[in-house]
Amino acid sequence: MKTSLYNNCRPAEVSGRALAFNSFSGALIEVSAEQADFLAGRHSFDPSQVQEKDENLLKDLYRNGFVVDDEVDEFALLKTRHDRAKHSRHQLDITISPTLDCNFGCFYCYQGRMKERMSQQVQDEIIDFIAQHEGLEELKLSWFGGEPLLCLDIIEAMSERIEELSKKMGFTYSAQMTTNGYDLDKERVAILRKCHVDNLQITLDGPPDLHDKRRNLVTRSNGTFWPIIEGIKLLNKAGSTVIIRSNVDKTNIDRVEELIDILADEGLHQNSFYLGQVKPYSEQVKRVSKVFLSKAEMGEHDARVQKYLARKNFKAGADVHFPEPKNTYCSANRTHAYVIDHDGETYKCWAEIGDHSLSLGQLRDLPPPELAEEKMSPCAQRWHDWSPFDEEKGCATCKMLPICMGGCAFSGMTILNNVPECIKFKFNLEETLVKKAAQLRRVPA
Ligand code: SF4
Ligand code: SF4
Repeated sequence: MKTSLYNNCRPAEVSGRALAFNSFSGALIEVSAEQADFLAGRHSFDPSQVQEKDENLLKDLYRNGFVVDDEVDEFALLKTRHDRAKHSRHQLDITISPTLDCNFGCFYCYQGRMKERMSQQVQDEIIDFIAQHEGLEELKLSWFGGEPLLCLDIIEAMSERIEELSKKMGFTYSAQMTTNGYDLDKERVAILRKCHVDNLQITLDGPPDLHDKRRNLVTRSNGTFWPIIEGIKLLNKAGSTVIIRSNVDKTNIDRVEELIDILADEGLHQNSFYLGQVKPYSEQVKRVSKVFLSKAEMGEHDARVQKYLARKNFKAGADVHFPEPKNTYCSANRTHAYVIDHDGETYKCWAEIGDHSLSLGQLRDLPPPELAEEKMSPCAQRWHDWSPFDEEKGCATCKMLPICMGGCAFSGMTILNNVPECIKFKFNLEETLVKKAAQLRRVPA
């Protein structure tokens, strides 16, 4: 037997104890400092020599992947897991942007504004494209913008057709939406429910004075903070899951606690809350690059905010954001995943939407699903070839690989000039493990 490649050991808050996290299996256990030292190193050992008193521990370690059989090649297994997900035709991920227009004028928005809405022809092409995927088991749909709520009629019409198709072809279908959350009332929330848009991500960038400056309406000077709060309440009442995201940089990071206080006063404890990093997605956003936070700084702030959420009794504070093994970092790394704009142009990543020079081509010109890999366009090939398993990326020897899979490929390829962007857990793993262990101790097994 041998110790796993993916053991990460850190001191526990309990004196003399340590926490061991296996990033391949996602398991977390508490062990002695001496056992942690052993697990953290690369050792082969004979299990028959283990003392009787340690036999049960060995069984637990084996069951949870902290020790593995000598012949197991964990790196190869991880790559197989990754490749299977990357090439799978059973799952189709589609992000649809029915318009690139938006009623907000956020300073960090990377998208060029276009007034057009998705035509009937492009809508028909999307339905035909989905129908080409014989044997499809799961469709994951995301509505994106611009601001998708400006085209709720299109979303309603397309959702009906997709639902019909899912019944006919027998695939499951789920939908989510990234929206500014401004234009919501009871009726519109009911339409979203009918369209199975049960999962929404809405952004609040600070307390009202700050949020309203950063996320202002284009045409009017009215604040957007309070209408958004009312929208979130309506969605909560209707049973939707709303994730509140706060896009942070050096100019608003110190006021996140004030925002959380207001959310608590408004009774929004059930909503998940997380920090989004403002990044140089485009030349326009690069102009404000002095205010960006680094990934390491984000890791520190994230830990601080998590603590505050817990203190304020938020569900998001009690459920520690804990790393989980993943097959790919995001859908952009998968072959059968597309972002489609109002015009029918297709992309791999929402950060490239609207930039035709990065398009994979028109949806109607894409190769059929069975030839998607053989007949890839150069733009698709660039995404396909980005792999955390390449020697030169440095991910191959990283213990975070199973929970990171090379990070956001857009950041790696475009912002960091072909250097992978490490996940925040690389910078705050110790704090995360300690908090998770404390949470688990509170909840009897
Ligand atoms: S590559 Fe990065 S920016 Fe693009 S969809 Fe994935 S996580 Fe998002
Ligand atoms: S991107 Fe960084 S944290 Fe992620 S696997 Fe690569 S080296 Fe590790």
